Amino acid sequence: MLPVPEKRQVSITPVSVPVPERVDAAGKERKKADSKTIIKIGIIENSQGVAIGAESDFLVVDMETGDALAEMSSDNIYSVKAGGGKIFLDKRQFRSKIRIKPKNSYSELSKISVNGKMYRGSIILRRQDKNRVSVINELGLEEYICGVVPCEVGPDWPLESLKAQAVVARTFALKNMGKHRKDGFNLCSKTHCQVYGGASRETEKTNKAVYETAGEVITYNGGIISSYYHASCAGYTEDVNNVWESFQSSNPEYLSSVKCKFCRDYRWYNWTYKILFDTLASRLRNAGYKVGKIESIRTIGRTSSGRIKQVLIKHSKGKLRIASGKFRMAMHPDKIRSTNFIVKCKNDVAYFKGHGWGHGVGMCQWGAKNMAEDGWSYKKILEHYYKGCKVETEYK
Ligand SMILES: [Zn+2]
Repeated sequence: MLPVPEKRQVSITPVSVPVPERVDAAGKERKKADSKTIIKIGIIENSQGVAIGAESDFLVVDMETGDALAEMSSDNIYSVKAGGGKIFLDKRQFRSKIRIKPKNSYSELSKISVNGKMYRGSIILRRQDKNRVSVINELGLEEYICGVVPCEVGPDWPLESLKAQAVVARTFALKNMGKHRKDGFNLCSKTHCQVYGGASRETEKTNKAVYETAGEVITYNGGIISSYYHASCAGYTEDVNNVWESFQSSNPEYLSSVKCKFCRDYRWYNWTYKILFDTLASRLRNAGYKVGKIESIRTIGRTSSGRIKQVLIKHSKGKLRIASGKFRMAMHPDKIRSTNFIVKCKNDVAYFKGHGWGHGVGMCQWGAKNMAEDGWSYKKILEHYYKGCKVETEYK
């Protein structure tokens, strides 16, 4: 059962960035995420068709007028397809963009299913080029966070670490509302933004973490922060300017390296990976780097947190110097799990040995879990990983 703090209708309200609440002493607008804050999540793109159903009877609604165009029964699963500029639900035809919403939004049984997964709020179906279909889930911010926390961390983790994850995920969402503007939604449901699994993934404990921190975000000097996080830092988190070019000229205090002795028991604290030179070369080519036959690979420099700065690859056509993060992405971030590694080469094979998983910036999720087990509160955990920050409900 979801402990909803108040009844609310989320279905027809257009996406809005939180409303300015008041003006602070410096004359800056302060914002607040409340129960009226709505978010649009792209859950399916370019599909040939999807299956739609619902827990209770639902309406097909005109996107512009909000008028109900049809009432559909919860007894059926409808096949959604696009064709001839229209959207079809089984044989019934509608305009190229429609909204599906429960007939009674206040009912406990108000979830809609898309390909068997349950979602809160409403569903927008849109015809894309070549008669493909895209699906957007529009729902309240807190309901969205309920579908993120159990996908990003273990739902059985200690409550304070789940609360830390809820605040980090909410902060990330509000800071990145414009990330997919060109696609017609706020965030996608994959690791590119944050993994979101809808209501099917919710658990009582993760929902409790969300509602006990409702509206809270992380601020630095009152401003909402870029709340990056990663699985395990393996000793020290990383200065953000070593990772992303956009931070080259500024390394905010709150994204600077901190010591973490809390993730030592992480499964991938130590990892290894071996790859044939030929495979490595083809991955580099797939990522757009022009290389010949690989001759040697070595690392160049280390950051203060111990991560390597660059990789130097000698090949039959010359040399390639590549930033370690870009090298990691070209190889695959689930294979070269971090940029904290050494590499040895023998008989045209590269052997990597490394530590931790992820870019290393911001909160170390496994560290947060162990800190919570040691009795740290979620606020103390967040203040540890984001130096100089506060947890607040109002922000600039
Ligand atoms: Zn750590």
